[in-house]
Amino acid sequence: MYAVEGVVMNVAIGRRGAIIFPLNICVDGYENGCIYRFVTHIHSDHTIDLDKSIVFSELLIGTPITIDLLKVMGFNIPKQKAVPLDYYQSLDLDTNEFAKLTVYRSDHVPGSCQVVLEMKNCRIGYTGDFRNPGIKTDILKDLDILVIDATYGDPSYVRESEENIMNEFVKLLRKLLVEQPIAIYAYHGKINDVMMKLRAWGIDTPFILPRNQWNIYMVLKKYGFDVDEVYLENSREAEEIKKSRWYIEFNLASKFTYMKRRSGLAHILVTGRYGKTVIGRGNVWIVGLSGHADFKELVYYVKEARPKILIVDGYRSLYAHAFSSYINQNLKIKSIVMPF
Ligand SMILES: [Zn+2]
Repeated sequence: MYAVEGVVMNVAIGRRGAIIFPLNICVDGYENGCIYRFVTHIHSDHTIDLDKSIVFSELLIGTPITIDLLKVMGFNIPKQKAVPLDYYQSLDLDTNEFAKLTVYRSDHVPGSCQVVLEMKNCRIGYTGDFRNPGIKTDILKDLDILVIDATYGDPSYVRESEENIMNEFVKLLRKLLVEQPIAIYAYHGKINDVMMKLRAWGIDTPFILPRNQWNIYMVLKKYGFDVDEVYLENSREAEEIKKSRWYIEFNLASKFTYMKRRSGLAHILVTGRYGKTVIGRGNVWIVGLSGHADFKELVYYVKEARPKILIVDGYRSLYAHAFSSYINQNLKIKSIVMPF
């Protein structure tokens, strides 16, 4: 229990980023004594200390896609500990009192989700990362406590519509592809999102994936995230395609700094962590396609959800305090930042 301005709270965010629910449930992090580990999605700031959870927790819970992806990403999750829960499915926890975990939809990366813990006297929710609240992300309502991700919690983060960004992105690709192949760099999960969007926008250039992304793609394909004309790097087909010099290869964003030095290719980093839509210098470009709600969307979520208490995740956002103050002042919802 944590006392906050006279209110006794049974939810906290730990110093290493775990969202700590009652009943020894830890979401997206680990603390000593965690019996249940819930993973909202595959990004590294949400799989913190997963190795510890694999050893010390009794159950690892996430959507079937997330659990399968974690396995191909190298986490050795024992079969008897894994509990795949699909959207709107629940798990009754084995405790003396009524306690139920339910999974809700979020639009962020394939398999990403939100989670709600229901007990006799309280309902607690955590959004995980999300965008498009109320459209592709369910808004968690009737909660006593809502823990929210506020990556873009500063009022200056208001971005253009995705339609406009995609339009510019596709225009840039078409222009660059006339002269050279392209390397696109993005985070886990975002690579798939970009591949699918580019196909939907009429880009029919072959895509080449390195082994680690190919493995992820194979899992996602099984779940219906299928894309035409995708090839494994160094395969015979990929080698043939490379000779034609008309292709797009994908790599993880973490490789951008050193891989962008390769000549003969245009390099595009796709990231939400940039204010502008498209900027470029020489043969290197940055496209701002975000997986996170912007400021307006965050406020909309909280307005619709109207929890009794809002906890803003200050571990994963630099703007948690700005966002929390805004909510306190403008929505008259009690809001605090954790960890303290
Ligand atoms: Zn994420």
